[in-house]
Amino acid sequence: MDFYTAINCIDGRVQLPVINYLQKRFNVDYVDMITEPGPNRILASQSNFNIVESIFERLHVSVGKHHSLGVAVVGHHDCAGNPGTKEEQSAHTLGAVKYIKQRYSDINVIGLWVDENWNVSEIS
Ligand SMILES: [Zn+2]
Repeated sequence: MDFYTAINCIDGRVQLPVINYLQKRFNVDYVDMITEPGPNRILASQSNFNIVESIFERLHVSVGKHHSLGVAVVGHHDCAGNPGTKEEQSAHTLGAVKYIKQRYSDINVIGLWVDENWNVSEIS
């Protein structure tokens, strides 16, 4: 069984698109889901220590117990937790990716954007 991990928004509209995308993209069976409202901004700003550490505790379980193949940080259109534009959110997502790579140097980390049609694309 292969796992990938998503650090995704709580928004119900983006769960299945992200799962489906990661299953196809990385040929994994399951996607472990860590959710917060607007997690890209939370990880980019690192202003709330408790939430950031909570995310990393959950990531540690996914990586340690499920040997997750990688991590995807997600931003999306019409996000209640992060109302920024696509450009602002993309900067947050890339900042989050960079921060995770600092703490998990040996795992693949990518950024995703879910658009107004709930289509998923990678940002870099
Ligand atoms: Zn959201």
